[in-house]
Amino acid sequence: MLQSFGTDVLIVGGGVAGLWLNARLRRLGYCCVLVEQRALGGGQSGKSQGIIHGGTKYALHGALTGSSEAIADMPRRWREALAGQGELDLSGVHLLSAAHYLWSPGTLTGNLAGFFASKALRGRVDQVKGSDLPPALQHPGFKGKAYRLAELVLDVPGLIARLAQLSENSLLAGEHIQPLYEAGELIGLRVDERAIRARRIVFCAGAGNAQLLAELGLQQPAMQTRPLHMVLVEAPTLKPLYAHCLGGGTKPRITITSHPTDDGRLVWYLGGELAEADGVARDEAAQIERARQELHELLPWIDLSQARWATLRVDRAEPAQSGLARPDNAFLAEHGSLLVGWPTKLALAPDFADRVLASLQRDGIVPGTYPALPALPQPPLATPFWEVLHA
Ligand code: FAD
Repeated sequence: MLQSFGTDVLIVGGGVAGLWLNARLRRLGYCCVLVEQRALGGGQSGKSQGIIHGGTKYALHGALTGSSEAIADMPRRWREALAGQGELDLSGVHLLSAAHYLWSPGTLTGNLAGFFASKALRGRVDQVKGSDLPPALQHPGFKGKAYRLAELVLDVPGLIARLAQLSENSLLAGEHIQPLYEAGELIGLRVDERAIRARRIVFCAGAGNAQLLAELGLQQPAMQTRPLHMVLVEAPTLKPLYAHCLGGGTKPRITITSHPTDDGRLVWYLGGELAEADGVARDEAAQIERARQELHELLPWIDLSQARWATLRVDRAEPAQSGLARPDNAFLAEHGSLLVGWPTKLALAPDFADRVLASLQRDGIVPGTYPALPALPQPPLATPFWEVLHA
């Protein structure tokens, strides 16, 4: 039998965008339901490196652009939330690192001195030496320079679990989604055997947005996917490292984050230029070989003879951009009662929620009164991929 109920906002997608939005709206008194097809955090969010960027990486072009200024406030907002004093109470979520670092191998040091002295970066980066270096760089063989960025790195599975906890009974495991129309207007969604009426519907299903839009006969906003071929390495000799290594170009040559497993091992997760175009074209064995060479060249003192390797292919989903340029803000488009978007970065989930909230406020949508939600089947939390790939 069809079960029917109503809500202010019906959110589709249980990644960081949907979960943050759900928690934020609920805290403001809105009634929300969030539908997830598979596992919470199992899309890009759980496969991200967890860096809460403040935009410094984007300043590698030589100057901070307007858009990188927009992201500059994100670390502060996340820090406040992690301290339990922000727009959400994320106290208890584990910070993997209170800072992210940027290091240049010896050869590039000269070029960078001017860049780091630039006015745009003043107050955002500090050079670190000796025992202030990240543990993996504390070696006499390290000849480069390292800088501490005002950015942080989060334990994403812990973040997703906390956001799910803040969602309480508003989550719904749902597989088949169909539009509900009344007099030609979209008034809700049918999710399996439930008809859910909503004043606003938000699609933030990452790579799933294109299919959801197609089912409504919509082509806009167009989506692009950017494939990545990430590498995981686990070895008893690894020490924590959260850093971009600079190459000669505008993108980091390699970005390393470190993830502790449940049984006390440490996995390095490698992205950056290594995981982009050429890396995508390599098969798994060639990609692992390339990563091995990169680490040998950049950190030759680390013994990787006992290392175990794996790769992970994942697509980033974003609004279509000319020339596959990287968007620097959360993105939201509107079609009447339907809102569709991508945060474009984990760090920008608060910005995504701001945009939805601004749309609700502009349209005069204030929290309504509804009967309590019925008991709903709950979606599971995704298992961290580093537990599975190296199991
Ligand atoms: P997702 O996390 O992909 O979530 C979408 C959810 O929707 C999924 O759970 C999916 O199952 C669900 N779904 C799909 N279709 C349907 C449907 N029809 N019905 C119901 N549910 C559906 N950003 C940073 O800020 N810092 C980083 O360090 C960083 N590192 C990254 C590293 C990698 C390898 C990748 C791929 C991305 C990285 N990002 C990073 C970007 C960041 O991960 C994404 O921008 C962000 O996680 C997107 O969140 P989302 O909620 O929009 O999408």
